[in-house]
Amino acid sequence: MAEEHLSFQAEVSRLLDIVAHSLYSEKEIFLRELISNASDACDRLRHAALTQSDLLGEDTTFKIRLKADPAAKTLTVADNGIGMNREELIENLGTIARSGTAAFVQQLESKQEGANLIGQFGVGFYSAFMVAEKVEVSTRRAGEDQGWKWTSDGKGEFTIVEDDAAPARGTRIVLQLREAEVEYLDPSRIRQIVATYSDHIAVPVVLESKKEDEPDETLNAASALWTRPKNEITEEQYKEFYHHVGHTFDEPWLRLHFKAEGVMEYTGLLFIPSQKPFDLFHPDRKPGVRLYVKRVFITDDCSELLPPYLRFLRGIVDTEDLPLNVSRELLQNNPRLAKIRQAICKKVLGELKKKAEKAPEDYAKFWDTFGAVLKEGLYEDGQQRETLLELARFRSTTRDGLVSLADYVAAMKPGQEAIFTITGDDPAALAKSPQLEGFAAKGIEVLLLSDPVDDFWLSTVPDYDGKPFKSVTRGGVDLEKIGEAEKKEGEEEPKEEADPTVDSLIAFVKLTLKDTVKDVRASKRLTSSPVCLVADDGDLDMHLERLLKQQNQLDHTSSRILEINPDHALVKALAGQVGKDGAGQTVEDAAWLLLDQARIIEGEPLPDAAAFSQRLCKLVEKGLLAG
Ligand code: ADP
Ligand code: MG
Repeated sequence: MAEEHLSFQAEVSRLLDIVAHSLYSEKEIFLRELISNASDACDRLRHAALTQSDLLGEDTTFKIRLKADPAAKTLTVADNGIGMNREELIENLGTIARSGTAAFVQQLESKQEGANLIGQFGVGFYSAFMVAEKVEVSTRRAGEDQGWKWTSDGKGEFTIVEDDAAPARGTRIVLQLREAEVEYLDPSRIRQIVATYSDHIAVPVVLESKKEDEPDETLNAASALWTRPKNEITEEQYKEFYHHVGHTFDEPWLRLHFKAEGVMEYTGLLFIPSQKPFDLFHPDRKPGVRLYVKRVFITDDCSELLPPYLRFLRGIVDTEDLPLNVSRELLQNNPRLAKIRQAICKKVLGELKKKAEKAPEDYAKFWDTFGAVLKEGLYEDGQQRETLLELARFRSTTRDGLVSLADYVAAMKPGQEAIFTITGDDPAALAKSPQLEGFAAKGIEVLLLSDPVDDFWLSTVPDYDGKPFKSVTRGGVDLEKIGEAEKKEGEEEPKEEADPTVDSLIAFVKLTLKDTVKDVRASKRLTSSPVCLVADDGDLDMHLERLLKQQNQLDHTSSRILEINPDHALVKALAGQVGKDGAGQTVEDAAWLLLDQARIIEGEPLPDAAAFSQRLCKLVEKGLLAG
């Protein structure tokens, strides 16, 4: 069969372009990536062979072989793992399977910026092109007869052809090194790279000797890292293991290495990244924690192992409590796995709590990176809700840093019964919301919530420590009761006098706006703005309603209550005009303008922007003529 010429998917070409112009100071990581893939290939075959024993045949010892040929300037990385057939070669080495990853690569604008970002994201196999001018992949899928050869210079195209000389099983990658990169042929350089990055790999990595009579040299410890005694594992080894299993490239923020013995027997080696993975909120994101049974890799995609709100974890869980030939069906609703999951959740949250107490600044970094994900647990996992509420941190109107609910409650004013919140998209805009004015005037702290998940957990979590959560944009607020105890003895209560002219203004506005609003009333929460919108007690929070409407989960929004600030100069002036001869039209226009203003501040769309503009023109014109 003739050689086929195929093009890389556009995103892969983009990636290769960045790799070729890479500013990576550590080109040597290409070897780590190829060994990592070879080890994964062995893991996958070992798993497949559990149910299809003939896949292994005579060749039952997994091995990764390195060979340097100084004369030909080639470095070979070969494994006897699962191998690839033609379709898999094209799919795996020609495209980016995950749409999230493809979208991310598309966003990498400049080469400069791309090279920086790519460091955090990892280019895997394609890193071979940092050192090689040509890469040849000969491979035969376990259990299949036909072998294939993939060849590319990393410039837009690759070729595929049948290859009878491919390994009997597995993959052989031959790198034709660039002139400037021949250092990677030096055995001592290779030894050093493997020791640095790949020592934790459980499959032996051997360097083939030059001479017939010399035995091959094994370069790594070749035992699963998590089974080794903790005091024999170095920080570097832990970190490289993390990079390998997590496909991550940052420093881990937290490491947990634990062993449970007794009723349940399992080992966990888990990490929390310090950097946010780019696909954290993408539905087809790469899974982070691998499941092993008795040291044998089972799957890297076990949704039963950890709840989604801990999806930032990277690492492995290895258990003795499941059968080796565990199937996907068996993993579902498996009571043993459910127990392990529960125990791990508890463990992870417990460690986070320790961090929060002992190193609050460091914890704040974690919270900024993954808090939005952890908060999903508030409505997903009733069992851990209390712990999660303790772990949660918030921005607020009265502090610079983050505040916990315990700290919030401790700072509540006398007479304050609720935890006040406001939700929105943008924290800076939120802090300027008119509904906060009355709270600010009394020094009452309000939590500023700007993650999309906030509205959802707020609608399911009733309270913390017996104090209900209450949105400042919803229902009535009685700020008068709060902070009373702080008033000095004998201080004169300001007399609450209903101003009859403001009352008639409110009646007039109500009559004008009719059904557009649910009600018009004098506000107790405004101090400097003339108006604001609030939702009625029984209605959904306004921000939540907007979110649901954006996601097409709601087809109409309920009407709002318009609150008017009776102390505002404009309101007083308008009140003076009500009932005056010839002023009717002006006050009517003003009523609509006030409503539209409130909508704009709230971030709600104006139903009739043209009418708004006309009224505004009319009023300004009048003002100019009068002045
Ligand atoms: P990743 O390892 O993160 O999936 P890579 O770019 O390193 O990404 O590899 C892409 C894919 O190519 C792998 O997921 C795997 O399916 C396939 N692959 C790479 N190297 C090998 C190998 N030695 N044997 C079998 N499959 C491989
Ligand atoms: Mg890889």
